[in-house]
Amino acid sequence: SAYAGNPQKRNFSGSGSCNRRRGCGGRGFQLSLPPLEAGPAGFPSPSMIRKLLRRVFRRGESAPSGAPAMIPVAHHGVRRERVSPGARRTCDTLQQAGHKAYVVGGAVRDLIAGIEPKDFDIATDATPEQVRSLFRRSRIIGRRFQIVHVMQGGETLEVSTFRAAHGEHTLKDEHGRVLRDNVFGTMAEDAARRDFTVNALYFDPATETVIDYHHGVADLQQKTLRMIGDPRLRYREDPVRMLRAVRLSAKLGLTLDPAVRAPIRGMADLMENVPAARLFDEMLKLLFSGHAVEAVHRLRDEGLHHGLLPLLDVILEQPLGEKFVMLALAGTDARVAAGKSLSPGYLFATLLWHEVLAAWEARKARGEVPIPALYEAMDEVLEVQGEKLAITRRIAGDIKDIWALQPRFEKRAGKYPYRLIELPRFRAGYDFLLLRAESGEIGMDVPEWWDDFLRSDPAARDAMLLPESAPRKKRRRSRGRRASGAGAAEGDAPEGGGDA
Ligand code: ATP
Ligand code: MG
Repeated sequence: SAYAGNPQKRNFSGSGSCNRRRGCGGRGFQLSLPPLEAGPAGFPSPSMIRKLLRRVFRRGESAPSGAPAMIPVAHHGVRRERVSPGARRTCDTLQQAGHKAYVVGGAVRDLIAGIEPKDFDIATDATPEQVRSLFRRSRIIGRRFQIVHVMQGGETLEVSTFRAAHGEHTLKDEHGRVLRDNVFGTMAEDAARRDFTVNALYFDPATETVIDYHHGVADLQQKTLRMIGDPRLRYREDPVRMLRAVRLSAKLGLTLDPAVRAPIRGMADLMENVPAARLFDEMLKLLFSGHAVEAVHRLRDEGLHHGLLPLLDVILEQPLGEKFVMLALAGTDARVAAGKSLSPGYLFATLLWHEVLAAWEARKARGEVPIPALYEAMDEVLEVQGEKLAITRRIAGDIKDIWALQPRFEKRAGKYPYRLIELPRFRAGYDFLLLRAESGEIGMDVPEWWDDFLRSDPAARDAMLLPESAPRKKRRRSRGRRASGAGAAEGDAPEGGGDA
């Protein structure tokens, strides 16, 4: 299994500081089970078990001061060598200066699950100024809640001071969404304000101990995504947590706890209230997670695919567009699995392509000249979606390059193909072309021709070229007839029409 650590129940020593009354560390850790009332024949009755479970599983309403479970390496299996050198050094320096310092959050979760973490975040009781003073190459960032970026070799570590959970006086909007959480707090409070139990784990590289306030290790080993506190309240505070629940369950193969899952359908509308940039960040994480296909399926299962990414709505409702996008996402997942780089430009080019096609078709139907009409359609779509999706100028440039290449794959005569394969975006453009063919938008003949062309030696390439003037003449003759495939573009143009 991908899960490191020993999933069997076992007693363990360590500091064993679990609070019996609260029953923390209950599941999976016999040491901390509260005493049982014996039923008949010495076995606990079902109602006692239910009572026990309630006691053991109770959380959220409990004060954040409860002592955590200290879980030794024998149980979770994470050795310090799996933490990046920079993160280890950062924790070490902070601890040497008398502070608490741990690797926290997603990295600990991923390490226990046997996944390579994307990055290592550090949590500490040192203030940002104290952190800053300990590392020459560091800077304080963020105005609302300051964190410190510490540079170690080629790594940048994000070091955050423990933050408090939301209190009664937290500033919220009219839907209950938290607008500000910028108060320093204790480590227990820092754990309590995190979203899921599996995300509230702290790893101490010095002792290889995982500090677990909310049964996160047991939940992870039992493959359950459980919320810290009342899920309804936590979704109200931050609706993005619904999206995170789906993303993390897809990434880690976790089952949503019924209490996490049940409210989503009814509360999905709260997502409309979240700033677009925030939603977009989480959506990008989802699309680049390496589990995009699974995540999008799960979004649908939970009724969450509407309004998340406006373009996803549009696309998933056109049969051809859906197939295209899902193939693109499968390709993205395969690239992540192979450790290849991902380009946001390529991804957005695929997500928006069917909108471009629709806009292009509309323009051609109005009699515009095909190629200029394509450029107009591209700008039109990027103008509308670009702002919504926070697409930067540079990414917009990449997107346009890929789209603009598409009609150029039609030209297979003379010097055109030789020039095309020299272009920096040729590979991306070709992959995109292939995707269009695989999704049924165009025939396979054009990508197959290019595939042959790329594989051939120079002499064979020359022989493959189409006659220089043939396509034009042929198109002229066939005017009025319905041409097939993407090659139809030029044939449909009224001669000398449009304003180009
Ligand atoms: P990934 O592996 O994709 O980065 P992650 O869980 O690390 O997943 P981040 O956005 O990097 O996600 O967040 C880091 C940590 O911050 C989380 O593990 C969690 O403890 C906390 N966190 C993030 N978003 C929220 C949220 N919306 N509410 C509460 N806690 C959050
Ligand atoms: Mg993270």
